[in-house]
Amino acid sequence: MRCTRSKKYICIVSLIVLISLLFAGCETKDEEKIQFKTYSNAQYTIQYPSSWLEPEVTQDPYNGNNVDFSKADDQFALNIMAGRIYPYTDSKDYIKETLEGNEEDVDVEEYIIDGNKGYEIKGVENDELTIFYVFQEKDMIFQIRFVCQANDYNNCKDSIEQIVKSFEFNDFEALTSLKDKWNKYSTENLEIYYPDNSDVYESIEEWAQVRIEAFDYISKYLDVEWEYEPIKVFVFNSKEHGRQVGLELGFAVSVFGEVYTEDTQSPGHEIAHCISYWMNNGERIDSDLVNEGLATYLNMMGTDNHSLTANILEEKNYSIELLGNDFWEHEDGYTFGASFVQYLIDEYSLEVFKDFFAQNKYNEEDSFRKFYDKEGIMLVNEWMEYLKTY
Ligand SMILES: [Zn+2]
Repeated sequence: MRCTRSKKYICIVSLIVLISLLFAGCETKDEEKIQFKTYSNAQYTIQYPSSWLEPEVTQDPYNGNNVDFSKADDQFALNIMAGRIYPYTDSKDYIKETLEGNEEDVDVEEYIIDGNKGYEIKGVENDELTIFYVFQEKDMIFQIRFVCQANDYNNCKDSIEQIVKSFEFNDFEALTSLKDKWNKYSTENLEIYYPDNSDVYESIEEWAQVRIEAFDYISKYLDVEWEYEPIKVFVFNSKEHGRQVGLELGFAVSVFGEVYTEDTQSPGHEIAHCISYWMNNGERIDSDLVNEGLATYLNMMGTDNHSLTANILEEKNYSIELLGNDFWEHEDGYTFGASFVQYLIDEYSLEVFKDFFAQNKYNEEDSFRKFYDKEGIMLVNEWMEYLKTY
């Protein structure tokens, strides 16, 4: 339920520092035949050496579908990332433009994978050789990245070639086509898209009504005059249903006013991300605790976040760290955030909170000092003291 992508979805250069290729003696030698097995997901199928470890799959809205393959000794590894391009485009020049916009001196060559023209990028750093294939199919970017010890390249080369050759796209759905293929339920500020087999097909009016009420409540609460395009809400039946089109639900792409949600997700959370984004023209504090806290506080579920949090914190002896990336360490982080945000609003006023939230001049720590005249940790401690009375 993270909310926006402020950076380009695929930033090729940020992933690896590429230095021009400086190795020699790449003659292949005959190897005994390697046995392969198959990995397949909604977007692609690939063969990898059967002696390798089982692939590890991770999904998130930022990085899409990530699969890590490696040899048991970790000296030779493969990562495949499949992610949507934002904003959606099936322009075939997307990668080219991204590479051209890139000022680093990288060794890039055109390369064809499964009949699809992409690029091969090579680099050596700290004795590790990285070979990177990047290409586009429909509205998704695929990155196949091999890392092996530079002095072991001769042994890796054949496997790399065979793995890359085995790569095949599966017939996945482009997101751009969902808008055309799915049903649309339009209201003044929301456009809701849902498929024929949707769990909410029969009850779409009712389902929409609850979201309209959430929209109205949240925009009024945050005092946002909605003068933008309607928010597009894509409704999926399950997390798995989202994965079939390469999405890890639910999330909002606030800058484009888009929400990707399971039909069972809370009515307000993602809509709150979209609306709060416009409190001050896209200016928004860089704090996951505050951002997710506000969206959860406004999720319209009627949850008593204070008593829920008080119960959990009692078990943890009120010793948790919530600021910065520590926020993501807690499975109950969203509930904690909602309770904390509610505390700030009730204790210090909604007006102060809104000023604090809708700015990006300060990082999280500086913002607490600037708008609350206190260290973030002091406010967190104050809030926990308050919850002890619950
Ligand atoms: Zn969220």
